[in-house]
Amino acid sequence: MSIPFIDLQAQRKALGSNLTEAMNRVLERGDFIQGQEVRDFETALAKFTGAKHVVACANGTDALTLVGMVEGLKAGDAVFVPAFTFVATAEAFSLLGATPYFVDVDAQTFNMDIESLKTGIVDAKAQGLTPKMVVSVDLFGQPADYQALAPIARAENMVLIADAAQGLGATLHGKSVTAFADYTTTSFFPAKPLGCYGDGGAVLCDDADKAALLKSLSQHGKGTEKYDNVRVGLNSRLDTLQAAVLMQKLNIFGDELKARDKIASRYTAAFKGAVQTPHVMDGAVSSWAQYTLKLDDRNKVQTHLKTAGIPSAIYYPMPLNQQTGYKNCPVVPGGVLVSDALAGQVLSLPMHAYLSQETQDYIIEKVKTFHDHV
Ligand SMILES: *Cc1c(COP(=O)(O)O)cnc(C)c1O
Repeated sequence: MSIPFIDLQAQRKALGSNLTEAMNRVLERGDFIQGQEVRDFETALAKFTGAKHVVACANGTDALTLVGMVEGLKAGDAVFVPAFTFVATAEAFSLLGATPYFVDVDAQTFNMDIESLKTGIVDAKAQGLTPKMVVSVDLFGQPADYQALAPIARAENMVLIADAAQGLGATLHGKSVTAFADYTTTSFFPAKPLGCYGDGGAVLCDDADKAALLKSLSQHGKGTEKYDNVRVGLNSRLDTLQAAVLMQKLNIFGDELKARDKIASRYTAAFKGAVQTPHVMDGAVSSWAQYTLKLDDRNKVQTHLKTAGIPSAIYYPMPLNQQTGYKNCPVVPGGVLVSDALAGQVLSLPMHAYLSQETQDYIIEKVKTFHDHV
């Protein structure tokens, strides 16, 4: 039995001829850059999330970089980032010359810890840095604690960015995760909840002027005259073919999210009392980018699953504060103990909308019987 970690082929079959026809329309027309589907997808994603403006770009990392550029980040600016996330969350701001400042995550939700952020803000100021941005991450699809984060950002005059590369589709108290921050960035990398067949990303915001600036910056800083570029920008576009794919995938995204939530509930019910399952915040619905267990004997469990033909993944084996390229970044006083510990405990199981009950039962059985076999 070969079990995929994420079954993109099953999704492709579900999309059927709609998908090939949508791609063929682009191939026939040949408008591979800035074709009609790019604008259509921006409009459709705005409708899906409730955001006023969506600016598509080349990937989720560029989405973060573009926000940093719009906000004029510079040397001496502190950007508060959870230590337990994918490197892009910090990388974009390092590139712009600002200082990623690592704060810890909560041991239950794996998202930014509010007390750690507060401690970090005081310490950053004492170090002579200017608190400029907070980047929350909806890790594994679980919404960050926006209701606690937003007032802190506002009180300190900081911009709040939601890195929803994993959280697109998640909701908090019935609202899209994209509704809470000044900007939301996302990624359409194939393995994300809403993925294309290559790279893609977007920034969502409600401010028309900022959206216009984001669009200009993503297109070489263009002004109204095509060859009069009024600022220094990036070449960061979503391809028309990818937008055509995303239009089709967005049509079934709502149903997929429901299926993922059902599958996650099934895992959680089956593992109750046996292993530590993901904790979902009150009022939150996760997009289940990952279904992640916390295990003391993680590496042994992973080997056991591998022997049984079950793929699993470790997101992330090392927090950002320990990574060579980021070792010199400031870390909250007392350290990021939860992030350091999680790196040795987390294990993500196969999770996608097309996971059959039969396969899921097999995975559950192999995880649960692990202790009988050692
Ligand atoms: C995937 C991811 C990104 C980067 O997205 P790309 O499209 O690969 O550039 C940023 N932040 C988080 C949390 C991610 O998971």
